[in-house]
Order: sequence, then C-alpha cells, then structure tokens
Amino acid sequence: MSDNSPVLLVTGGSRGIGAAICIGAARQGWRVVVNYASNKQAADQVVDAVRAAGSDAIAIAGDVGDVAGIASIFEAADRHFGRLDGLVNNAGIVDMVQRVDQMSPERLDRMFRINITGSILCAKEAVLRMSTRHGGKGGSIVNISSMAAIFGGPGQYVDYAASKGAIDTFTIGLAREVVAEGIRVNCIRPGIIDTDIHASGGLPDRVRDLGPTLPMGRVGTSEEVADAVLYLLSPSASYITGSILNVSGGR
Ligand code: NAP
Repeated sequence: MSDNSPVLLVTGGSRGIGAAICIGAARQGWRVVVNYASNKQAADQVVDAVRAAGSDAIAIAGDVGDVAGIASIFEAADRHFGRLDGLVNNAGIVDMVQRVDQMSPERLDRMFRINITGSILCAKEAVLRMSTRHGGKGGSIVNISSMAAIFGGPGQYVDYAASKGAIDTFTIGLAREVVAEGIRVNCIRPGIIDTDIHASGGLPDRVRDLGPTLPMGRVGTSEEVADAVLYLLSPSASYITGSILNVSGGR
C-alpha cells in the first residue's frame, strides 16, 4: 500500500457483504473508506482487518438515506484520502415481512430513500469526483441489487424487491451515461447470503431454513459476493460496463 494506492468507498461497509468487500479490497491493494450507519464498533473492526491486510482505512459514519449524511461521508473521504477511484453502493435495508396491502407510506419512503435515492446520490458524488468530464481520472462503480429484483418478494417485501429493480435499471442507465468518461458501472445480484439482514427483516432463521432448498443446497457467503464485486471493480473487467451479474448459486 502506498499513497498512490486507489481508494474505494463502500457504503454499509461495517457488516455482512460490505465488510467482506472492504477486507477483500484491502488484499487487492485498495485503500478503503468504510461507511456505516450506527455500529461504530463493527466499522472499527473492519478498519483493523484492512490494516492487518497491509492497507489503510477510515471508518465514516453517515446515513445514505439522508442528503446531509451523504455529503458528510464524501467530504470526510476527501479530507482523509484526497482521491476516489471506486464506489460500492452496498448499504441497503429490508423491513419487516408484510404484504403490500399492509405497507405504510412511511415504510415505502424509508425503503426507497435508503435503497434507491441513497445509491443514486452516492453515485452522483462519485461521478463528480471520478468522471473525466469533471477533471477526474475515471473509476468504477458497483451497485448491489438482489435476486429479489427478479422474483419480486411476494408476501415478504415487494417494496425491497422493487427498490432493487430500480438499482438494476439505474446501473444500465448510468453505465451508458458515463461510458465515455472513464467510469464503468456494474451490478451484482446476490441470492440468499448468510448475513444479519434476514434477522432485521424478522426472519432470523431464513438462512438455516432456506439453505437446503436452494439449487446448491446452501446459501452464499459474503466473501463469495465480495469476490465478484472485486472482479468488476478491477482492471480485469476493463471492457465490462452496464452488466448485472447474479451471484446466487443457480437460484
Ligand atoms: P447487513 O448485514 O444488514 O449489513 C448492512 C450494512 O449496511 C451495515 O454495515 C449497516 O451499517 C449498513 N447500513 C444500513 N443502513 C444504512 C444507511 N442508511 N446508511 C449507511 N449504511 C447503512 O446487510 P447485507 O446482507 O450485508 O446486505 C448488503 C447489501 O446486499 C444490501 O444492499 C442488501 O440489500 C444486499 N443483498 C443482501 C442479500 C442477503 O441475503 N444478505 C441478498 C441480496 C442482496 P450498521 O452496521 O451501522 O448498521
């Protein structure tokens, strides 16, 4: 790691898939901005793991569902590293299992603010820093969608699935918008991955219950998703933009 090493910002980098991306990125020579919402202890552990891997990191609190939160994340990253080369729009939420006929406007507002508007505004900030149109040196963005965008999440969280459908479409549009400006934009659709997100939707046993029913007989790991993200971020994927890759074990 040197002062010339590229800098990657991972939203929601403190736990689950985001944490695996941060640690994997450090091993590939990225310096890392570990964004988190509230769990500072978890974010600090990821920073420690990045440093143990021989790179540098900073933990930055900030809610991607809030315009001021996004501004403070990018300003802190600018102050600390002074450059940005990659963004992973990973932060995302589910809500408690509900049918659409039970969902409140407040729930939908929060879901779309964090999962859609937050990702788009973070991408905006990254483009302002990385696009050659704005004096940047180019870069790479990876958005984290979900196989829910394909299946629709009926009876569980159709709102979440719809938010991820928006991420798929956003990926295609932004990729084509900035393709000649040195920025590649791609997307990963994870299947069912072993993280805490299922408990936050009121389904703590989802991984245990569904694993044996999946095509590979198991759920995926955060590291398996991270490997695909890191490939799309890397120069090995230099001719890939606007692509959506399922990391779902055949589901
Ligand atoms: P997770 O274990 O619940 O971790 C969520 C991470 O996002 C945490 O670091 C959390 O920070 C952060 N976060 C939550 N809300 C935030 C906000 N408003 N602003 C900033 N950071 C926020 O989730 P995960 O399972 O790793 O999921 C990561 C991404 O993969 C999400 O976009 C999710 O939709 C997608 N995905 C997951 C699965 C799966 O099965 N796990 C499947 C498909 C897609 P704190 O630690 O501070 O709370």
